[in-house]
Amino acid sequence: MAMVNMKNVIKRYGDFTALDHLDLTVAEGEVLGLLGPNGAGKSTCIKTLCGLIDANSGTVEVFGKAQSVSNLEIRRHIGLVTQEITVFSDLSALENLRYFGGLYGLKGKELNDNVAEMLDFVGLADRAKKRPKTFSGGMQRRLNIACALVHKPKLVIMDEPTVGIDPQSRNHILESTKRLAESGTTIIYTSHYMEEVQAICSRISIMDAGRVIADGTIDQLMSSVTHEDRVHLTAAMASDQLTTELKEIAGVKTVNVNGNQYLIVSGAGSGNLNRIMEIAQRNGGIVGFSEEKPNLEDVFLTLTGKKLRDDQA
Ligand code: ADP
Repeated sequence: MAMVNMKNVIKRYGDFTALDHLDLTVAEGEVLGLLGPNGAGKSTCIKTLCGLIDANSGTVEVFGKAQSVSNLEIRRHIGLVTQEITVFSDLSALENLRYFGGLYGLKGKELNDNVAEMLDFVGLADRAKKRPKTFSGGMQRRLNIACALVHKPKLVIMDEPTVGIDPQSRNHILESTKRLAESGTTIIYTSHYMEEVQAICSRISIMDAGRVIADGTIDQLMSSVTHEDRVHLTAAMASDQLTTELKEIAGVKTVNVNGNQYLIVSGAGSGNLNRIMEIAQRNGGIVGFSEEKPNLEDVFLTLTGKKLRDDQA
């Protein structure tokens, strides 16, 4: 069964179209990575899914039912984790969890059990009686996650859950997310960190300008853009002659030169590495070379023309 089914969804803010005929599906038990450059519409998509805002048109179904701001029943079964810390700093970790569990209607044994399980799940059992204001940023984030999951939602949406926290808490959150996935929970995970997405997600949807522009497993996405061989060559000596000869090799599409660094891009499977080496040897020699294997970052760049993280420019 599809846990999420968005079809032809349009959401406008004034004249601006934030979701532009968006199609997105998430199957039960799937961990979907939702990727996109800033402004792509990821948060708007998530808010629409959670029933925090209504779309202007299109179908938004969650658990097979129509989602909207007025549908509180669906929201009870969604856990939304954002970067914002929404816990109370003057309540202990335990009291916070009991409070949020209570909001979702948990009581008695179920509340006690879920609270204990969640404290353990995020590795804060030994700090249950402590107030979050004494916690590190990463521990606060983990408590925040526990509060968002205490009602055991069927669908968990994690929006950049590891941004700006220490490596230990980051690893903890990744491991917890994997365990959550293994227990069968359906997860939508947005992140700017490729290695996280590669480690956790079974499928990826890439958004740009308000719509999904590519969708598939990591392997499928990579093979969809693997249409180039890229060789980085450090020549002992740069020369126009070398550049010209490299450009004349069969299959070579472009040669970029930066000092004595050459980037030679050929059509996929052109098999011209030996020829490149031979020409470079003849034109002064080779200091080093490497062949570039595509990764998810390349897929993203090829499809959107943008870097996934601004700081990677
Ligand atoms: P992302 O999460 O991918 O960065 P958002 O969904 O936050 O993208 O935003 C998509 C676009 O919609 C952005 O250009 C943003 O400026 C615009 N936007 C988001 N929220 C509002 C709002 N409440 N009013 C007007 N424009 C908005």
